[in-house]
Amino acid sequence: YNLKIQRSEKIEVISQLAASVAHEVRNPLQVSRGFLQLLGDSLSDSKARGFTEVAIEELDRAASIITNYLSFAKPELESIHRLNLASEFEHVRDIIMPLADMQGVQMEIDIPSSLSLAGNDTKLQQIFINLMKNSLEALGDNGWIRVWAVEQDGEIIIHIQDNGEGMEEHILQRLGEPYFTNKVNGTGLGLMVTFRIIEVMQGKLEFKSKKGVGTEAVMRFPALPQTSVLAGDTPA
Ligand code: ADP
Ligand code: MG
Repeated sequence: YNLKIQRSEKIEVISQLAASVAHEVRNPLQVSRGFLQLLGDSLSDSKARGFTEVAIEELDRAASIITNYLSFAKPELESIHRLNLASEFEHVRDIIMPLADMQGVQMEIDIPSSLSLAGNDTKLQQIFINLMKNSLEALGDNGWIRVWAVEQDGEIIIHIQDNGEGMEEHILQRLGEPYFTNKVNGTGLGLMVTFRIIEVMQGKLEFKSKKGVGTEAVMRFPALPQTSVLAGDTPA
C-alpha cells in the first residue's frame, strides 16, 4: 500500500515538472527551427542544406516527444466529452497503419460502433498509439496486432494483443514506472503517460505477457449511458 502512494506522488511531481518543461522548451525549439530554415534557404551548397534539413527534422522530433509524452497534465473538465470508441480508433488507425504496413505487420481491429465512453479525444488516441507503438516495436517476423472491444457489465473492455517478444515477470512488474525502458532509443515515458491518462479517465490498465509468446493490454472504462450529458458536450 505504501509503495503505491509513493509511486503516485512521484508521478504527480513528474507530471507537473513535465508540463512546465514542455512549455518552456517549445519556444526556443520553434525559434531555432525558424533560423535554421532561413539559413538553409540561403545556402547554395546542397550538402550544407542537407545538414540544416537533418537539424530541422531532429528539432521536429524533439517537439513531437514533448507533444506526445510531456504534456499530460490533468485534462480540464470542459475537454471531456462523450467519445465514440470506433470513430476515435479511425484516427489511431490512420497513424498506426502506415507504420504497420512498413513492417509487414498484420492488423485486425474489431470495435462495435455502439461503444461510447467519457474522455478527451486526443488523450484517448494517445493511449492507443502508445500501446500499439510498443506492440509494433516488440514484433518480429510474421507479427500481428489484434484489437477488440466489448461492453460488459457496465464496462467497456478494450484489448490490444500482439505476438511480439513478450516480457518476463520482473519487467511486467515495472511497467508504468517513469523512465523505465529496455530500448536503446526508448524514453520510458509512454506507459507512465498511458497509465496516468487511464487513471484520470477512471479506467484501469492491466498487462498479460509471456516471454517469447506475446503481450496483451486490457483496459476497462466505465461505459457511458446513452442519456448522460457531460460538461464538455455541446447541448443539442
Ligand atoms: P519505451 O517504449 O520508450 O521503452 P514504454 O513506457 O512505452 O517506454 O515501455 C516500457 C517498456 O515496457 C519497454 O521498453 C518494453 O520493454 C516494455 N513493453 C511495453 N509494451 C510491450 C509489448 N507490447 N511487448 C513487449 N514489451 C513491452
Ligand atoms: Mg513506448
